[in-house]
Amino acid sequence: MLSYADARQVVIAESKNHAGARPTVTLKISDALGYILAQEIRCDRDYPPFHRSTRDGYAVQASEANEGARLRCVGEIKAGDTVSEALESGTCIQIMTGAAVPLGADAVVMIEFTRRSGDSITFERPTQVGQNIVRKGSEAHAGDVALQPGTRLGFAELAVAAQVGASSVRCHKKPRVAILSTGDEVVPISETPGPFHIRNSNTVSLTAQVRLAGGEPVPLANARDRVEELSAKVELGLREDILVLSGGVSMGKYDLVESVLKSMGAEFFFDAVAIRPGKPAVFGRCGRTLIFGLPGNPVSTMVTFQLLVIAAMDVLSGMEARPLPLVEATLAENLREKAGLTHFLPARLDWPGSVPQVRVLRWQGSGDVSALNRANCFVVVPSDRPDIAAGEKVSVLPRLDVL
Ligand code: AMP
Ligand code: MG
Repeated sequence: MLSYADARQVVIAESKNHAGARPTVTLKISDALGYILAQEIRCDRDYPPFHRSTRDGYAVQASEANEGARLRCVGEIKAGDTVSEALESGTCIQIMTGAAVPLGADAVVMIEFTRRSGDSITFERPTQVGQNIVRKGSEAHAGDVALQPGTRLGFAELAVAAQVGASSVRCHKKPRVAILSTGDEVVPISETPGPFHIRNSNTVSLTAQVRLAGGEPVPLANARDRVEELSAKVELGLREDILVLSGGVSMGKYDLVESVLKSMGAEFFFDAVAIRPGKPAVFGRCGRTLIFGLPGNPVSTMVTFQLLVIAAMDVLSGMEARPLPLVEATLAENLREKAGLTHFLPARLDWPGSVPQVRVLRWQGSGDVSALNRANCFVVVPSDRPDIAAGEKVSVLPRLDVL
């Protein structure tokens, strides 16, 4: 059976094999948050575009403004002012943060380190050439690449695009992810469940996870465990880039997902992963659609989505698959799990001091959604290290939306 790390490599490799040319769309930058850039964006000019003062103070020639020196202040420059006149020897000019340093000045002295009497300024500290000035072009030059294709546009990347004047950007379309829950026991959340029915929470959580991971969810509700009904709904799912099914991949008599998909021409790249929860997860392809069959127990569905589906979505979004954001923390209490599978245990990561500490939560197994709402991460218990003592370091996988 594949380890989760190997399963992820298979997902990434097969997603690359079948990604094909990805469609693009041009968006205003105000609408582009979370999209992946499909073009290069270059600097339209030098940054900063002029020698910029980083302090409120006086523009000087450094050699004339050492401790005890006095200079006459002959004017002031605000941020945004056009600066045309050069600084003359024996004088200084008051300057504000963000303003352009005049020709002839090679330092800015902070106002805090000066005394003023009328237009006479006395300097109280040694002054070095270049201090408190960011030189024109020192951040980037005109024509430099500001953003590479394949960059995910977060708030900082959008600010860079805005700074260089890219008011609209060509991005990859988000991958469309069909979400199909299966099971005779599952009823829509708008209905009152019978005594032995459960509400379809997986469609809701998967829709949210797809959005968070940068995809376009296409919810297809639930198919009962009947071949014809399942085939008809799968057919709809196969119109999209990715089809994610929940339930129906275990060994039960009514777990029909794999056989139905096979009869529709799907090939499978794996049909189990050495993890708990989530062992029966399957990954395959039918035509141009990548297919994930995730086990139906809600925590299994959520874990396997984060471990496997996001990697495929990243590739189809036009970027490199993001590595799992594992962090290291100190375990608060001893734990013991069965060897042979990598366990993902709902847990709570906190920072009581400067060192992150993680506590595994009590839970009732993979159906226990309420354990996950108290959790902000999963402790990763390696398959070959089932006993871990309090105080030891463990790997922690933050939940997609809370850290
Ligand atoms: P399965 O993987 O089909 O054997 O489903 C395992 C269990 O997961 C079921 O017995 C349900 O309790 C639960 N389950 C399945 N589908 C859903 C769903 N859409 N929403 C919430 N729970 C589900
Ligand atoms: Mg089922």
